[in-house]
Amino acid sequence: MMQGQPKSTIQNYYDQCISKARQYLESRYPLETCNKDDRDYPVNLTNNSWVVWKIKVKNDLHPLTYLIAVPDTFPDNLPKIYLSKKDYSDISPIPHVDSNRFVCTRDENMVAFNEDKSGEAIETLLDIATQEIINKGVRKENIEDLTDEFLAYWNEGAEFKVLSLINPGDESEILKIVRFAKDFLISKNILVLSEEEAQKWLSPFKIEIDSSSTQYALYIPLENPIQPPCANIDYYRMIEAAGKEHLSAFIKNFGHRNSNLFIFFSFPLKGERILAGWKQIRPKKVAGFRTGKVPLNIEFVNSTMKKIQIVRIDKGRLFRRGGIGIEPSLSDKALAIIGCGSLGGSLAMSLSKTGISKFLLIDKESMEIENVARHECGFLEAGNKTTKSAAMKNRLITHFPHIDCQDYHNDILDLLKKEESLLNSFDLVIVAIANMSVERRLNTLLRQGLITSPLLYLWLEPYGVAGQMLFIHPEKGGCYQCCLENDGEFRYSVAKSNEELYKRETGCQSTFIQYSNLDMEHFVIVACKNIITFLRDLPHSTILHTWLGDLALFKSLGYEISDEWFADSSYSIHKRIIEENQNCKICQNL
Ligand SMILES: [Zn+2]
Repeated sequence: MMQGQPKSTIQNYYDQCISKARQYLESRYPLETCNKDDRDYPVNLTNNSWVVWKIKVKNDLHPLTYLIAVPDTFPDNLPKIYLSKKDYSDISPIPHVDSNRFVCTRDENMVAFNEDKSGEAIETLLDIATQEIINKGVRKENIEDLTDEFLAYWNEGAEFKVLSLINPGDESEILKIVRFAKDFLISKNILVLSEEEAQKWLSPFKIEIDSSSTQYALYIPLENPIQPPCANIDYYRMIEAAGKEHLSAFIKNFGHRNSNLFIFFSFPLKGERILAGWKQIRPKKVAGFRTGKVPLNIEFVNSTMKKIQIVRIDKGRLFRRGGIGIEPSLSDKALAIIGCGSLGGSLAMSLSKTGISKFLLIDKESMEIENVARHECGFLEAGNKTTKSAAMKNRLITHFPHIDCQDYHNDILDLLKKEESLLNSFDLVIVAIANMSVERRLNTLLRQGLITSPLLYLWLEPYGVAGQMLFIHPEKGGCYQCCLENDGEFRYSVAKSNEELYKRETGCQSTFIQYSNLDMEHFVIVACKNIITFLRDLPHSTILHTWLGDLALFKSLGYEISDEWFADSSYSIHKRIIEENQNCKICQNL
C-alpha cells in the first residue's frame, strides 16, 4: 500500500478479523509471531501476504508445534498449517503431510468460516490436523492413504523428470530413455518403447533425437498397490516380489557393464496403473565380492537410488485427465475428411479431441485471406499460402503428436482416378465440400461399390438456418441422389428456395454461403456428437439428420422457411430414414 494513504474499508476488515483470531488463539495457546528468519518458517510461502504464528498444542501422543500461516485476506482465504522442523522429522513420513511440512486439511476445510468466530474456526482446523492427520498417521491408521498419495511422495523426492509415452501394462518390458536436442515441456528425455516412437512424437515440433545417448530401461508391473519404499532393501523386495528374474535378465543383456540402471514399475490403483521409476547408481565394487558376482540384494543395498518423476504424455493418460477416458471403440477409428474448409477443418479439430487418432485430410485449395475469419487456421497459414489440408494436419499433429494424419492437396476425384480404393480403409468418410457435382460423383461411386466406406455429407444452409447430416449406407436404403428433386434441389432444405440466398462473391467465381462462425461451430458440435454415435454403431440404413438453426433470425432477414419445417423450433434436431426413391436414376439403374 502507498504510504500515507488511509487504509481501504476492506483492508480494515481483514486486519480486524486477523487480530480477533489472534486474540482468541492467544487466550488458549502459547502463541508467538514467527518471522522469516525463524528456522521453522514455512519455505514455500513465497510472497509477503502471510502472517505466520507459532503455536504449541498439547497432544498426548506427541506434543506439537504448529505454524499457522494466515493470509492477509483472511477469512476469505484460509490459513495453512505446517509442522515445526523437529515435529516433522519425528513424525514423517505420514500421509497428508508433504516435504514442506504442510499439513493438508483440504477435505475438511470445506466447512464455511463463520466470520464472527474465525478464531474458533482456526482452532477447529488445528484439531483436525492433530486428530485426523497427525495422530492417525503416527498410529498408522491411514497407512493406505500413502499409496493414494504415492506419486506425490515419489515426485517430491525426485531428482529427474522424464516424459513418458508408455501406457503401463501388465507385462514386463524393455523400454528406452531417449534424449533429445533441447528442453521441451519439462525435460530432455522421453521414456518410450522405441526410438522411432520418440522421433515421431517430437517431429511436429522439429526436435531431433540423439540416438547415441539412448539408454535401456526395465519396466516391471507389480500386481498389488505398494507404499513408497524407504530403504534400498525395500526396492529390492519390490523387485523380488515381481520376479527378480526380469532384473537378472535385464542386467545380463543390457546392464552388465553399465554403472547405472533405469528401473520403472507400475501398480494398479483405482482403475489405472501408477507409473514411477528410479535411476540406480551401482557400486563400483562391493567388498568381499568379485566384480559382476555381487548378489542382487547386496548390490541394491550398496547402490544409490535416485527417484525419477514421470510426466505421462501418453494418449490414454491425457484423455483420462481431460474428463472421461477414450472409449476403446473410438480410439482406433479412422476418419477421412474431404474438404478442409471452415466446416471440415473445425470438424477435424473437434473430432481429434475425442481421442480419434487416425485422419485422412483432402482439400485442393490453399489458405487465402478471405478464409481467415471462419477457418481454424488464420493469417499464419494464409500468409504462407499453406494448403488447407497441410494447414489442418499441422494443427492436429502439433496439438496431439499421437495423431496419425495423412494429407492430400488434391481434388478427391483426381485422387480416386489414381487410387480407386483410397477411402475404403476408413470407418467413415466425411464429405464437407459444398460442391454438388463432386458430391453426386462420390454417391455414384458408393452405389457402384467402388467406394465401400459409408459417406456422411455435411453442409450448412444459408445464414446457418440449418445444418444437414446425410449418412449414406453403402448398401441399404436410399442415396444422395434419392434426396434430390428433378431440378436438382435438395428435397429437405429448410430454407425456401431463393436465388438471393446464394450470394455470389466477386461476380461469378464462387458461391459463398453466408453464415456466421458461431452458427457453424454450433452445428459442428451437433455433427460431432452424431459422428461419434455413428462410429460406435453405424446406422443400418441411409439416414438424414437435420439440425435447425436460428429460424427467427432467418425470417427476420426476410427469407422463408420451407413449409415442411414451418412448425418446428430453432435448435431442434430431426431424424428421417431415407428410403430408396423410385425416381432415383442411380438406385434404379443398379
Ligand atoms: Zn438413390
